This record gives sequence, structure tokens and C-alpha cells, in this order.
Amino acid sequence: DYLDHIDRVDGEIGAWITVDRQGALRQALRIDERRQKGEALGALAGIPGGLKDNLCTVDLPTTCASKMLIQYTSPFDATVVDKLRDAGAVILGKLNMDEFAMGSSTENSYVKPVRNPVDPGRVPGGSSGGSAAAVASGQAAFTLGSDTGGSIRQPAAFCGVVGLKPTYGAVSRYGLVAFASSLDQIGPLTRDVTDLAYVMNAIVGHDHRDSTSAPVDWPDFRDSLRADEKGMKGMKIALPKEYFGPGLHPEVKASVLEAARRFELLGADVDEVSVTTMEYALPAYYLISSAEASSNLARFDGVQYGFRADEFEDLRDLYVKSRSQGFGKEVKRRILLGTYALSSGYYDAYYKKAQQVRGLIRKEFSDIFRDYDLILSPVAPTTAWKLGEKSKDPLEMYMEDVYTVPINIAGVPAISLPCGRDASGLPIGFQLIGKAFDEKTLIKAAYTYE
Ligand code: GLN
Repeated sequence: DYLDHIDRVDGEIGAWITVDRQGALRQALRIDERRQKGEALGALAGIPGGLKDNLCTVDLPTTCASKMLIQYTSPFDATVVDKLRDAGAVILGKLNMDEFAMGSSTENSYVKPVRNPVDPGRVPGGSSGGSAAAVASGQAAFTLGSDTGGSIRQPAAFCGVVGLKPTYGAVSRYGLVAFASSLDQIGPLTRDVTDLAYVMNAIVGHDHRDSTSAPVDWPDFRDSLRADEKGMKGMKIALPKEYFGPGLHPEVKASVLEAARRFELLGADVDEVSVTTMEYALPAYYLISSAEASSNLARFDGVQYGFRADEFEDLRDLYVKSRSQGFGKEVKRRILLGTYALSSGYYDAYYKKAQQVRGLIRKEFSDIFRDYDLILSPVAPTTAWKLGEKSKDPLEMYMEDVYTVPINIAGVPAISLPCGRDASGLPIGFQLIGKAFDEKTLIKAAYTYE
């Protein structure tokens, strides 16, 4: 059914880069055989899902939606892929994205742009736009995305689905093509919070192959799927007033405040707080993420991986031509920004400063979490924009990330939930931000709200 549905609807949406019809049917048959033999099956047995195309798979290409990797197939599976297979999930294919996960609209894909299923004239958000659009249009029961500065939460909000960026270290990054290693996390996108809890159960956990993965004893997230009679009583939620200032579209603001009001009605204490570091998060994010990207992407040199220019004079020329032809405009912009920020003459002024700001942001979040269980804020200042509308000015696109990037800098988890629609019927989302490694509370609050 899912494969046939993809055939019918994805021509218009463009969510997939690779659909693995044969492989998916094989996986499903294998699970069905095991079921008939009475073997114990995982919690996701037979559930069809999709993977953002920056997650490595041995049986399908991993393109990162870049000309650089368009022919590349990994020699190993990402840890999350192993874990999904262990849980019995059926992997339908690989999903479209902004090239190397750089962008907020999925227009930076080398393959094709993704269109928002709610209004195909509009973007689905990004960079996990394919992952969000696939779930929103019923082409997958769940998908995985990656979130470095909002790339799961913002497309989830734009397409009207649920998305979680887990705590840094909760989900192994082994086999995720790195963008900014100190910020990247893999997470699920689903239709509702119940589905999300099942997918989270499958993918969290310590992995010795990722040195930043945390050795934590994770609870069963299905335990968070109980509406208890206390509702949200005793829960303290902070509303940071800087997240509701100028720049936030009035319809988005009204809808997100309505969500806060609903938590109050459910018994939570909701207080306004101040986050003074807010205005520094975006510049710090673009410095740190670009610096790390410039270093991570140095490996794509035309020798070891992927694309190589046809004609070149010597080794240097091979590097220059392969990189010039293989990377798209936004990726080159980040590499140049990052290389500049890391260069010896400017290191102290930019990269070091940004790291100091990072320390302040982390401290401010942990101070708030001494008094509060959760923080509630918008996901993005606007709803989905028209294709092409923000492509001319990169800064305008970067501004869309203002509410999501502080969470990656702080390393804490945040879930994006639908809370309404604007006058044109476009979905609006809000995010609940939790304490590090307290996904349990986050999922419980999200479930109670939903
Ligand atoms: N939009 C942000 C960027 O372009 C975040 C991307 C992401 O989370 N991968 O960097």
C-alpha cells in the first residue's frame, strides 16, 4: 500500500531520492515468514519507514542530495539503520534533503526541491524536508531526519507532523554523514506522539562506535503514553519572552500562546522568563556549524569519495575542480565562512568568541532548568513560504532558524508539535524543550497535550 501510494503522490511532492521497491517487499516478506513461524518480532515489525539520505546504508546510495555523493554507496549501515532493522521496520528508501543538511527549505537539494503536501506551491521546511513531507502525505509511517540547528523540528512544524531532536548523545551518530559534529543529532518524525515513542525506543542507546554517545539507562517511552488524572499538575513550564518578540508572525504567536494556555488548563504552572543570550545564538550557531562543516567536508576531495572532475592538470587541480563542480552554492558558502572563521588571524575574534557564547547559552538553559521542567516556544517565526521566496538572500533564510538553533547549542532535547493553522491553512508548530536526557518527561507532556 505504501509503495503504491508513493507511486501515486510523490511525483508532485519529491520527498524521495531513492525508493527501494524490491528491497522493501523482501524485508516485509521476511518479517511475515518469521511471524508465521511464531518467532518473536520487534515492536516495529512490518512498519514502513524512510531514512534521510545522509544516513548510511549498504544496500542503497547515500547521496546527501549532493552531486558530490550522487553515486556513493556506504560500506556500512548507520547504527540507527541496524537498530530499526532489529526492531523489524521495513525501510522504503532514502529521503530528499538540503544538500549536506544545509538549509531550511529543502530547495538546496541537488536532485530536486521538495514541495509541502499541504500546499505544493510552498516549501516543506528543511533540511529534513523529505522526511517531513513523506510522513505528512502518508508515504511512510515514520521517518528519520537529522537536526543540527532545527532540521527536524522546523519541517515537522511546516508540514503539520511531530518531530523530536533528542539530547546530544542520546542517539548514535555513527553512519550519519557529519555536518557539524558537536550539534548533529538524529531523530524521528511521525504523525503523532505515540508513534514517536515507539521509534525512539528503537533508536536510542549507547554505541561504542560513537564516542559522544552517552551511556544512559533509557526508560521504555511507551510508559510516557499514559494520560494520568493529574494531567500536567506540578509541572513548571517557562515561556522565554525573547522568543515572542518582534519578528514573530502574529498568527504564529497567537497559536503558540494558545498552546501554552492549554498546558495551564491541564494544570501546569506557566511563567514568563527571560533568556538574555537569545540574540547571540544565531550568529554563534552559524560560526560554529560552518567551522565544523568546513573541516568535516574536507574529506570530499575527489580522491576518496564520490564525484571526481573529468579533466584536471595535477593533484591540486583535481581537488579544486572536483570540489568546485561537486558542491552546490550554499555548501561552498558554509565552507568559505567556516574556513575564514578558523583561519589563524580571525580565530580569536570569531570561533573562540562563538565558543564562549556557547558556554553562556548552555549555562542559561541549565539555570532555567533548575526551576522549570520544560520550556515552551515557537519553532519558526513564520509558516511555510513560497518556493523561491527566500532563496535570494541567505541571511533571510538563516533568520528562520532563530528559535531552533539555541537548543542544539545547549544540547538539550526538543519536540515540535502541531498547534494550529494560519489563515491560509498552513500548519503552525511549537516546541517543548526538555532537560538533557529527560525525553521521558518531554514525551509525556507532548502526549498529554495531544
Ligand atoms: N537551517 C539550519 C542550517 O542551515 C539547520 C540545518 C540543520 O539542522 N541541519 O544550518
